[in-house]
Amino acid sequence: MYKRNYNNNLILMRDSKVGELCPICWVIMTSSKENTFSSATIEHIVRLADGGKSCLTNIVICCKGCNSARGTIAQRLKRDNQLCFGYREWAALSLNGSDEFSQNVITRYYSSLDIMFWTLVSQRGISRPY
Ligand SMILES: [Zn+2]
Repeated sequence: MYKRNYNNNLILMRDSKVGELCPICWVIMTSSKENTFSSATIEHIVRLADGGKSCLTNIVICCKGCNSARGTIAQRLKRDNQLCFGYREWAALSLNGSDEFSQNVITRYYSSLDIMFWTLVSQRGISRPY
């Protein structure tokens, strides 16, 4: 992980989510100071690497594990010359389909998370890519 200069609003938003569930894997998020897989992190909806901005309208707070997984997936998609469409693929691929925990997330929570995410996106005036 590398450090970025975030403004106070983003830091406050991140720290306010400690003790809440990661919106992707539903782990209880812990302090960023602990720097573990469950630590709350600032995740950009449109990645900085793709020109996204560090502002409240372009972030979600998720656990470090999910944040890291997305970076790995994005790199792999880029290497294989595939487009990365975003959250749906990200959430699906972040989960390991074979273990029980991931299966539970996929079957029980995934559809409601998807609705939640796209509602959030549409509230921000971004049109759905498919
Ligand atoms: Zn997570």
